Amino acid sequence: MVHIKAKVLAKIEVAIDIYKLRLSCPKIAASVLPGQFVHVECGKDREFILRRPFSVHRRLGGNAFEILFQVVGKGTRALAEIEKGDILDVIGPLGNGFEVSDTVKNTLLIAGGIGVAPLMFLAEKLFAGKIPFDVLIGCANCKKAVPFDLQNIIKDRVFFATDDGSLGFKGTVTELFLNHLKKNEKPDVIYTCGPKAMLKQVALIAEKHGIACFLSLEERMACGIGACLSCVCKTKSGQKRVCVDGPIFDASEIIWE
Ligand SMILES: Cc1cc2nc3c(=O)[nH]c(=O)nc-3n(C[C@H](O)[C@H](O)[C@H](O)COP(=O)(O)OP(=O)(O)OC[C@H]3O[C@@H](n4cnc5c(N)ncnc54)[C@H](O)[C@@H]3O)c2cc1C
Repeated sequence: MVHIKAKVLAKIEVAIDIYKLRLSCPKIAASVLPGQFVHVECGKDREFILRRPFSVHRRLGGNAFEILFQVVGKGTRALAEIEKGDILDVIGPLGNGFEVSDTVKNTLLIAGGIGVAPLMFLAEKLFAGKIPFDVLIGCANCKKAVPFDLQNIIKDRVFFATDDGSLGFKGTVTELFLNHLKKNEKPDVIYTCGPKAMLKQVALIAEKHGIACFLSLEERMACGIGACLSCVCKTKSGQKRVCVDGPIFDASEIIWE
């Protein structure tokens, strides 16, 4: 874990209220794994006491990385006002990462909304390792759809679901997931990130079909380093801290509320 000042190389609005920040930060970029996150000080002059956690979206060589975030409140609104050349105070990399076993032959990535953030980095690892994967992305409408950066290379393997049918399948990403299972070979492993209600549905469907499933949990978080216990979740092996025991968990371990 490194506590560091990262320079903003670029800020790009990729969809309505969704931004990509490219940060120069060799110390984090050199070691971060897919699924890990960084804890970011948002706003100016310590405006917010608590940092905000964001998954690493992409790693750009050993020198820079990207986060992808959606404006949902005061912290992310302040972060969206940052400009190229500004300096961000960042801690990371934090948490565990997605495990990809050597025996995996066919995977499925399922994202709900901004849940696409950590899955892009994982997709790049799978692609580099020549592990086939499909990507299902659910969002409210086409204006909220984040382009999947590998789309041009694996375009026939990325599928969108939108609530209003303005892009891809009309319906939820879990409905798209069920349709996908009917039409395609069963994946060995599912990796997923998104709202909790969606994660629960994906986990239950995966369990029903006997498919291993790993998910990235997003609980409200304070310290990010395991001390404050504000981000605990219930698992079959007791209470776990999302910041250090996660954010990636085996879905079959989670006790859903
Ligand atoms: C490990 C981890 C990785 C994350 N990665 C990303 C990411 O890559 N991109 C991204 O956009 N967001 C990510 N989040 C969620 C992000 O941290 C929150 O959206 C952010 O902290 C909200 O700050 P705010 O001040 O703008 O909102 P607040 O004013 O604090 O809250 C606004 C709304 O967002 C909800 N919220 C706040 N914090 C969280 C949280 N931690 N998880 C879920 N909902 C929350 C609140 O319940 C409220 O409804 C991640 C969260 C975790 C725990």
